[in-house]
Amino acid sequence: MPDPCWLGPAGLDMTDQVFDVVVVGAGPAGGAAAFTAARAGLQVALIDRKTFPRNKLCGGLITGRARRYYHEIFGEEMPFEPQDRKTVVDFRFRGRSVGLINDAPALCMAMRWDMDHLICAKAIAAGTRDFTGCQISEINLNAKFLGLKDGRTIRYGVLIGADGANSSVAKALFGQSFDRTRIGFGLEIEATGDHINPEAPLRIDFAAARWGYGWAFPKRCSTTVGVGGLMARNPDMKTAMAEYLTELGIDCAPKAFKGQFLPFGDFRKVPGRDAMLLCGDAAGLVDPITGEGIAYALKSGKLAALSAVDSLSNNAPATALEGYRRRLVGIHRALRMARWIRPVVFLPALEGAFETTFRRSSTLRQDYLRLMAGEIEYEHILKALALRVPRLLVHAVGAGFRQRQSR
Ligand SMILES: Cc1cc2nc3c(=O)[nH]c(=O)nc-3n(C[C@H](O)[C@H](O)[C@H](O)COP(=O)(O)OP(=O)(O)OC[C@H]3O[C@@H](n4cnc5c(N)ncnc54)[C@H](O)[C@@H]3O)c2cc1C
Repeated sequence: MPDPCWLGPAGLDMTDQVFDVVVVGAGPAGGAAAFTAARAGLQVALIDRKTFPRNKLCGGLITGRARRYYHEIFGEEMPFEPQDRKTVVDFRFRGRSVGLINDAPALCMAMRWDMDHLICAKAIAAGTRDFTGCQISEINLNAKFLGLKDGRTIRYGVLIGADGANSSVAKALFGQSFDRTRIGFGLEIEATGDHINPEAPLRIDFAAARWGYGWAFPKRCSTTVGVGGLMARNPDMKTAMAEYLTELGIDCAPKAFKGQFLPFGDFRKVPGRDAMLLCGDAAGLVDPITGEGIAYALKSGKLAALSAVDSLSNNAPATALEGYRRRLVGIHRALRMARWIRPVVFLPALEGAFETTFRRSSTLRQDYLRLMAGEIEYEHILKALALRVPRLLVHAVGAGFRQRQSR
């Protein structure tokens, strides 16, 4: 059994297992964190309550940004079949077309069943100890150990919480995993039968949900259809989903809808404490406009692991958070900018103005897609919007005036 210097003088029980880094959650964030820490030569444990492969509710849209981060971490391209790459995107607004783009930067379609299995397997092949399919019964942050339901105790130098939107590590740290007034929520189905059409364009429907949107992502064995948005603004999300399915001509009973929380722009300014770090959804790192979370999950998992490596090599695990916060500055800045821009896209008063501008401006549509491809960042969009805001406001005021006149 290793005897790491960060453990201090306290003795170990024979049932204790000791690791430099323990990662809770083996999704993209946890898999990237475990892989990076193991590759750096640390003793790493990866715990997940599920055995893999497992499902995770998700559109499975993999942006250029996510593919770039994947390559940075694993040193190879994310594997996709040619028919998983989409370059045709159909933008809608309440069913009305606002632009069919035929030459979008490639967006790829994945099934999380396969993708997360691959990432988890890479972490284990890099030397991570596999604790998938293990239930955690206790998280003791003061004594720095986790208890497993089977009686084992797992001690850590640095703990990385990558256990998603309902994070138990975040609850142990902060009392709750997220703020219900700020979180997002999504509903999805996998439409099969007549609705399998891998050649169909990828479809995005603004205003299918309030402060959110609807999506239909055609894949090889199904079309993933969903609506998502801020939970507080959508008490009737099931109705929004039913209406969206009707619009798409899909017959599906509401009891078949699957739902999950999405930390849609409510990121944790301080993602952890001392030697305990949160990444991915557990840290709220989801784009508040597009709902994209896989890219930042991968990236933040890697950054958390690098911070753990530095702090442990300095024999100062409690400094891990300091290093992690410095590394996260870029992601936090991007999320803050997206939050500033979000009202322009989703505010009901600007809806008509946004629709008209989006329909007329091929630059805006291309920028939206280039943003998803990871070719540009929100800084670029913010500058472009600054020039348009006066026109948008005039539009919004005009639309409000016309509405009042027609009443
Ligand atoms: C409806 C919907 C659609 C989405 N569509 C997209 C999309 O198309 N593209 C995109 O980029 N993002 C999308 N997202 C967001 C994306 O799914 C998440 O941001 C991403 O999965 C975050 O990865 P993660 O590794 O942080 O967490 P997760 O992928 O949630 O993984 C967390 C892991 O932790 C495990 N776990 C949880 N609790 C415990 C516990 N107590 N003990 C042990 N293990 C635990 C879980 O089993 C899971 O394996 C969508 C989200 C939703 C809800």
